[in-house]
Amino acid sequence: MAAFKTLDSADLAGKRVLVRVDLNVPMENGRVTDATRIDSILPTIREISGKGAKVILLAHFGRPKGGPDKENSLQPLAAALSAHLGAPVAFADDCIGDVAASAIAAMKAGSVLLLENTRFHKGEEKNDPAFVAELAKLGDVYVNDAFSAAHRAHASTEGLAHKLPAYAGRTMQQEIEAISAALESPKHPVAAVVGGAKVSTKLELLGNLVKKVDILIIGGGMANTFLAAQGKHVGKSLCEKDMLDTARSILEAGKAANCTICLPVDVVVAKEFKAHAANRVVDVDHVADDEMILDAGPKSVVEVERLFEKAKTLVWNGPFGAFELQPFDAATNAAARKAADLTDAGALMSLAGGGDTVSALNQAGVGERFSYISTAGGAFLEWLEGKALPGVEALRA
Ligand code: AMP
Repeated sequence: MAAFKTLDSADLAGKRVLVRVDLNVPMENGRVTDATRIDSILPTIREISGKGAKVILLAHFGRPKGGPDKENSLQPLAAALSAHLGAPVAFADDCIGDVAASAIAAMKAGSVLLLENTRFHKGEEKNDPAFVAELAKLGDVYVNDAFSAAHRAHASTEGLAHKLPAYAGRTMQQEIEAISAALESPKHPVAAVVGGAKVSTKLELLGNLVKKVDILIIGGGMANTFLAAQGKHVGKSLCEKDMLDTARSILEAGKAANCTICLPVDVVVAKEFKAHAANRVVDVDHVADDEMILDAGPKSVVEVERLFEKAKTLVWNGPFGAFELQPFDAATNAAARKAADLTDAGALMSLAGGGDTVSALNQAGVGERFSYISTAGGAFLEWLEGKALPGVEALRA
């Protein structure tokens, strides 16, 4: 894998630096409800500002329909970012043209300016060369710190990297290094947990991981489809009947690649999909017709823990059960704690990511104790699927 350039080698003093960040944060009534993404870009902003450059932030927000609309304006984010940064953040009403150019001309070295939503121009998502050229006019250097948008080849995430000297920001760098350490050149044995609702949404991920990891632990609703593919009765469980052949071919691919595939041996079943529903533990051969599997059982957890102890590297995406409903979060919590303990002991490098996984691990109280948790969602999953991310590829030297 070709290396990418980091801020270590960037000459920034006195330069206009266009920094692509992720400010697509959840908001309610004009207030940010989760500032994780804001906090993650602060080191890069501070470093570039500290080197005496003009920090010009490019970002998208929401899904505007190719023109400006108040609902998707980044304006409220300038104040929110300023509060976290502890320094003023100016705002310009457009990300190209005279409005942007004069705001940049008025900046002092080391100051920070946020430009309006790049998606207010159709050229952003089309990666239109004319729009890329308009953006490129505004800067001398391009820094991409938005790993979470790197699976999209848009003007501000990909196109610009070909027009200006391009570098990875610190968050982008950390994310690429953590994921590479887990999948490109990991310490073996490598174990992967793939849980969550459906096989159909994680087919490519399973297909890639089965070739790359030594141990594949399948959990969540998708395990039901694998159990059904092995001829087990799964009652009313979430199960994709049209995926049984696919599940069988993944099991075969695992055998061919010498990958140990682990499925639940016992499960927690209930008759209703709700918190605190009456439930019982049964082994996978004894699920009744009116029952549904909502979590992995205690014997399965012991097996998962044993496999974690064998592993040196762990990649985790997806919960073991319907973790939003207690007590069906038990297997996810127990396995997460085990992974965190092994990580604390220096025996395991643990990497987790993808939407629900982050909330499941935070709910288990171990988010901070994993080696690395990616909040990148789609980009993280595409990397696990073995796909090249355009925003990352464009930074390779
Ligand atoms: P995903 O977005 O694919 O990672 O799936 C996460 C979702 O899978 C969560 O909302 C869980 O509640 C759900 N889930 C996990 N296990 C089960 C199960 N056995 N039955 C139904 N839903 C499940």
